[in-house]
Amino acid sequence: MKTKHLLLSLLAFGSLKAQSDAEQFREIYSRALGEQQGYEWLSELCGLGPRFAGSKQATESVLYFKEVMDSLGFETRLQAVKVPRWVRGPQEKAWLVQGIDKQELAVTALGGSIATPQGGLKAEVVEITSFEALDSLDLSGKIAFFNIPMDPTFISTGYAYGSAVKQRWAGAIEASKKGALGVVIRSLSSSINKYPHTGSMAYAKEVKRIPAAALSTFDAELLSKSLKQDPDLQLQLEMACEWQDSVYSYNLIADLKGAERPDEIMVVSGHIDSWELGTGAHDDGAGAMHALETLYLIQQMDTPLKRTLRLVWYMNEEFGLNGARVYAKAAKANNKERHVIAIESDGGGFTPKGLSIDANDAMVDRLKEYRSLFEPYGVYQFSKGGSGADVGQLKADDIILIGLRPDNHRYFEVHHSALDNISAVNAREFTLGSATLAALIWLMDRDDLCIDCVD
Ligand SMILES: [Zn+2]
Repeated sequence: MKTKHLLLSLLAFGSLKAQSDAEQFREIYSRALGEQQGYEWLSELCGLGPRFAGSKQATESVLYFKEVMDSLGFETRLQAVKVPRWVRGPQEKAWLVQGIDKQELAVTALGGSIATPQGGLKAEVVEITSFEALDSLDLSGKIAFFNIPMDPTFISTGYAYGSAVKQRWAGAIEASKKGALGVVIRSLSSSINKYPHTGSMAYAKEVKRIPAAALSTFDAELLSKSLKQDPDLQLQLEMACEWQDSVYSYNLIADLKGAERPDEIMVVSGHIDSWELGTGAHDDGAGAMHALETLYLIQQMDTPLKRTLRLVWYMNEEFGLNGARVYAKAAKANNKERHVIAIESDGGGFTPKGLSIDANDAMVDRLKEYRSLFEPYGVYQFSKGGSGADVGQLKADDIILIGLRPDNHRYFEVHHSALDNISAVNAREFTLGSATLAALIWLMDRDDLCIDCVD
């Protein structure tokens, strides 16, 4: 009898616990959706303008939100980060030239490109549809045109992006080796329109630097079609971008202190810098504000966390990962703290679908046990994989790295373009991301779900 009673009460306790977990989830999601505080902050952030690393607005955005976080009662501090300074300049234009006819194309300099020579660059164009095709080409005196679309058959647009992005970062190097005077690429976008998408590009030490730009997908299609009709047509390119001396900016750190194990750190993070064609609402204003709203939601709960929940806004993910490197170096050198979990949101503010977990198989399986709690909120894709470029810098055996995975079908339509503005972010979709992170952190802390974090 006794055993039966014990068993019954254990079962009752188990279902009570499950019920209260579901209730706690409901409370977190309800508060988030009811208040939509994070979306308001995101609107404010975007209202301050683009936040390209090294720019005045980037640093001013950090200082502005430090005050917001101070007023909320979080322990904040700035961490100095040296960042490169590249300026787009007032002029970036391209024309398709056929005889006396000139047609303007939508173009943008790739981040890090040198300017075109005085008076611009005008040359015939060679279209390149794969890197393999380059071997047999002589590009002397020509402008190389990489026209490699994102593969629409991939379900993950992230994979499609990954398989096409080489033209952006390596296009100038490979074309220059073949004698090209400049390079234009097809924008890395999953839709056809007149908005060019920028992003960082690279040069190699031993290879001559040439100007590099992205055409809108619409104009890449147009150029490709026009070249088939008239292989002798010319492209004229004018860009006045320039490199300046590096400057100092900041990472922003804000702590919500843990009640029992304050020296154990759970990071929730995003990058505060953005490209400057839009205002970086999705990339990564959304991630930065997911982190802030997560702290806010946890702060509103009845019981504090055992561990310290730390917001980190990294400066300059887009153009060198400087902020994440500075943060990780300081974290590893600090033996008074131990980082146990680090979460990043850098996939936009669309509806959250799941988590990508960088940890051992046992931990991934353990996290998958939470899935039934998240399913009512549409979050169910829990997979082992990469976490994110910024938290990736913290990688070690004893830390769990996690990336929030929102729906990504529309992400690359706006990514790094003038379309990445607050009007592209849906308040409910965005808010579900913050609630998901808050619920996850609350559970992991309560269940001591970190590697070796309980003595
Ligand atoms: Zn980003």
